[in-house]
Amino acid sequence: MMERNQSADLLFEISKPGRRCHRVPPSGLPAVGLDSRFLSGGSPPLPEVAELDLVRHYTNLSARNMAIDSNFYPLGSCTMKYNPKRHERLVSLPGLASPHPLQPDKTVQGMLAILFEMQEMLAEIAGLHACSLQPSAGAQGELAALLVAAAYFRHRGENRTRVLVPDSAHGTNPASAAIAGFDSVTVKSGDDGLVDLADLESKLDERTAVFMITNPNTLGLFDHQILDITRKVHEKGGLVYLDGANMNAILGIARPGDFGADMMHYNVHKTFTGPHGAGGPGSGPIAVRDMLEPFLPSPMVIRDEKGGYCLQQDRPLSIGRVRAFFGNVGVLLRGWMYLRTLGPNGLREVSEQAVLNANYLLTLLRDHIDVPKGAGCMHEFVASAKILRREKRVSAMDIAKRLLDKGYHSPTVYFPLVVAEALMIEPTETESQETLERFAEVFVSILREDPETLHEAPHDLAISRPDEVAATKQPVLRWKSA
Ligand SMILES: *Cc1c(COP(=O)(O)O)cnc(C)c1O
Repeated sequence: MMERNQSADLLFEISKPGRRCHRVPPSGLPAVGLDSRFLSGGSPPLPEVAELDLVRHYTNLSARNMAIDSNFYPLGSCTMKYNPKRHERLVSLPGLASPHPLQPDKTVQGMLAILFEMQEMLAEIAGLHACSLQPSAGAQGELAALLVAAAYFRHRGENRTRVLVPDSAHGTNPASAAIAGFDSVTVKSGDDGLVDLADLESKLDERTAVFMITNPNTLGLFDHQILDITRKVHEKGGLVYLDGANMNAILGIARPGDFGADMMHYNVHKTFTGPHGAGGPGSGPIAVRDMLEPFLPSPMVIRDEKGGYCLQQDRPLSIGRVRAFFGNVGVLLRGWMYLRTLGPNGLREVSEQAVLNANYLLTLLRDHIDVPKGAGCMHEFVASAKILRREKRVSAMDIAKRLLDKGYHSPTVYFPLVVAEALMIEPTETESQETLERFAEVFVSILREDPETLHEAPHDLAISRPDEVAATKQPVLRWKSA
């Protein structure tokens, strides 16, 4: 095997005094010194390396990564679909890549036209009235929408303090509720994995501001009680929030506004192909029903009297900014191009194919591993290694880690919390039948391996089983010289 040690060294460790990436001939121009007020005393201790060593360092690091461009990436709930390369051409056009966020509106009309159209398209897909592109991720969209709800009730003079969240929800839902100042109340799921209506009803009252629902939910099941649910919440004067992370299952088929949601977020990086992973970059626009529109974050893109576009800053009831400048525009531009490329019919086909692919994979796997909830699925499904763990001492983590050895990114594990030893698998529409069949074969072959082999996996990667809690709680992000 090739000697890979070199690539594991930090640039600081391979640094040699005086090494440079390149040297250019002297320009002959007089040197201009920096004002001493700006100098902290000496240059910072940056690594000094040759260009080739630098290129190898990053190339080798990148080859250690799992990425959608190199590996099947069935990370449930994250919608790791292929990100078309033509989007990169759009975002690198100088008119879109180089504007400064404080440039006058009249100098960025093309950009504003795109963003305006994006607001309109996202409102249309949601079946809702208005859309703010500002939030930078799904989680921030949740928070922004709950602040909108709080402002709405305050405006009406209603004191509603509670947000109801199903136990199958993503952890960001109760977290957003708490940060927005509400008490988060858990609603149970029934044995079928759907909202337990009796439990919901017992917790719904005039203190309820919002019921947050993910539909299809995190088990990959469409809650067919949704009309009943939204009616019950509305009868008590509450609002319904749709966590739109799973929109990839229902694009152009069902609109949240039509089934009673009053507000929702999109994860543009998931559903509409923003390259993402390892925490960013994201974009989490929110769409809302008409009565909530005045409270949306500002600025919004609007049309002015002359048919041009401008940023509307003056919105008296708005909750204000939720981030600097306008939004994660690079992600929004890619999403816009995706929507314009597909059109309404193409978008519907995306969801049909995503659901078909997930059901095909489910069919290939369900004789080999337990899939406890639901007979079929939407765009993803959740398998459980609970029986395997009991009978063979093989955990969800063991399977996930062994898949890495085989060149696959692992599924989402131990989420949702309502399934023990969960492996949440989302293939997306962009994978071929052959890829799904090959993955199923490898998955089944792993289940037949010696449990001891699996406990130690991965065997073939640079890092095997890091202490994940320590890595999260005490990350070492800064190099310090010895
Ligand atoms: C990804 C996800 C979120 C959070 O979205 P981010 O864009 O990661 O902040 C919320 N809910 C569900 C169900 C998700 O899958």
